[in-house]
Amino acid sequence: MRFSKLYAPTTKNAPKDATLPSHQFLLRAGFVTQSGSGLYSFLPLGKIVLDKIRRIVKEEMDASGAQEIEMGVVVSADLWKQSGRYDVFGKELLRFKDRKNNEFVLGPTHEEVVVDIVKNIITSYKQLPLHLYQITTKFRDEARPRFGLLRGREFIMKDGYSFHDSEASLKEEFQVMEETYTKIFKRLGLDFRAVDADSGAIGGSGSKEFMVLAENGEDDIVVCDGCQYAANIEAATRAKKTTDIEAPVANFAKFYTPTPVKDSIKHIAEFFKVDEFYTIKSVIKKAIYKDEEKIISFFIRGNDTLQETKALNACGALELLDASEEEVIEAGFHPGFCGPVGLDEDLEFYIDKELREEKNLICGANEDQYHFVGVSMFNFKENRYKDLVQVSAGDICPHCGGKLHITKGIEVGHIFQLGQKYAAAMDAKFLDKNGKSMPFYMGCYGIGVSRLVAVMIEASHDEKGCIWNQQTAPYLLDIIVSNIKDEEQFAFATQLYETLKEKKYNVLLDDRKERFGFKMGDFELIGFPYALIVGKGLAHKEVELINRKTLEKESISIDTIVSVLEERLS
Ligand code: ATP
Ligand code: MG
Repeated sequence: MRFSKLYAPTTKNAPKDATLPSHQFLLRAGFVTQSGSGLYSFLPLGKIVLDKIRRIVKEEMDASGAQEIEMGVVVSADLWKQSGRYDVFGKELLRFKDRKNNEFVLGPTHEEVVVDIVKNIITSYKQLPLHLYQITTKFRDEARPRFGLLRGREFIMKDGYSFHDSEASLKEEFQVMEETYTKIFKRLGLDFRAVDADSGAIGGSGSKEFMVLAENGEDDIVVCDGCQYAANIEAATRAKKTTDIEAPVANFAKFYTPTPVKDSIKHIAEFFKVDEFYTIKSVIKKAIYKDEEKIISFFIRGNDTLQETKALNACGALELLDASEEEVIEAGFHPGFCGPVGLDEDLEFYIDKELREEKNLICGANEDQYHFVGVSMFNFKENRYKDLVQVSAGDICPHCGGKLHITKGIEVGHIFQLGQKYAAAMDAKFLDKNGKSMPFYMGCYGIGVSRLVAVMIEASHDEKGCIWNQQTAPYLLDIIVSNIKDEEQFAFATQLYETLKEKKYNVLLDDRKERFGFKMGDFELIGFPYALIVGKGLAHKEVELINRKTLEKESISIDTIVSVLEERLS
């Protein structure tokens, strides 16, 4: 490609809302343009990178035995009603009507459509397992589209769906996908971890996320320094927390504790001169369900933090919001003095499982200005106990006893064992070996293909611009003619360009009538792996090769340049 013909509008400045390097460089280097909130168009350079990533994903998916299909972006709402997700998916699901008043959605994920594709066609265990995937546009009306391609509203996902006659077969495919994803992200040259994850709105049990370690990641991931354990903070667990600080042993009693409501745990710990570890704190939330709202109290240790996703899973709500003091009082709780002991059994509350059978605790007495001391956690129904707390740095690994750390990651893939949930809801069944009719076991597997374009930059850039690796670079080499008026330079550069093109190398010839510094700036901003400068050195038969990553320069004789480049570019 000749740069003079390439549509790559580069600019000096990025819009103010572009705060991350990937967002800034994608816009400034002319990879993409924005056409609306969370909506982007890929320009030639961006499209080449996107297609390279897509090809790697496709090659590995095909090699795993999955088959590529393509489902429509517009989906009949009827299918979403069959699965029961139409009402519960929330506002990310864009719902609309056609001229005949038929209801539709823009597909944010395609479980419903794919189940409908195989339903009544795959009828026997003999036709299983089957894995169908696609690489297509998704739409999610994200509340806060941001960070460019990292969180768009329209984006490209690889989504695969597998069908099985048993849980064992599903688990086998889950393993194959974990290996396949590992190959994909390795080929992309990314530093990543497969982590235990929460299954979220898609549902099912057993899921893993693939996280690229990056300081600008939106996700917190917990990693162990002693073993391979890694988990999203939403799903991370720890060995039960303990303390060396002596317990405040006391007989059960009610104490007058005049306490300001705000910061009451700190206040109570000081009041009784005990460590916050021995106090129980109540976090009260408003839980939103499909047809109702409830005020719920979650009880955890005073020095722990409620993990909202765990709390959401505990109560099965669609969403948790902060509850106002009036709402809390109206529901029957005493804000600031709320404890699990003696609390009305009809109120909705959950207790962190680490508090099970613990003793010598202090908690609210469900009466204004009073607390209980000497509390023992017995006599609660088992279903009150849930995992509610957020792991924090320094907690102990549940597997090896090592220390847990927290780092930032960007989710690039997510694999789920869905089980029979969707097939059962949509009545998609097959006959098993014994002639018994049952719903398929399913798995689903996503990769954020357009997000990966941005992730590649987050993972590899400097203050000047992108640094592409060979697997994903839009062009491998940028041949820059230093002085475009110098006929000799121009002729040599053009000839080298033609030679390399003939050898099927992906190279760019910067033949623009621009200053040298301007062209170098574009090379650094766009970030091709190498630039070859054809300049004054040509007079004594030398050209200069620049490595984008190190910015090191190397003089090379024109007699050997083709073979040197062949070695570097392959
Ligand atoms: P997130 O937690 O980042 O919102 P998710 O859990 O909603 O992601 P999945 O439903 O698992 O995402 O989708 C599969 C993959 O699609 C994700 O791993 C991610 O890489 C990508 N993805 C999801 N939402 C977006 C988005 N708004 N823009 C770009 N890529 C996305
Ligand atoms: Mg996810």
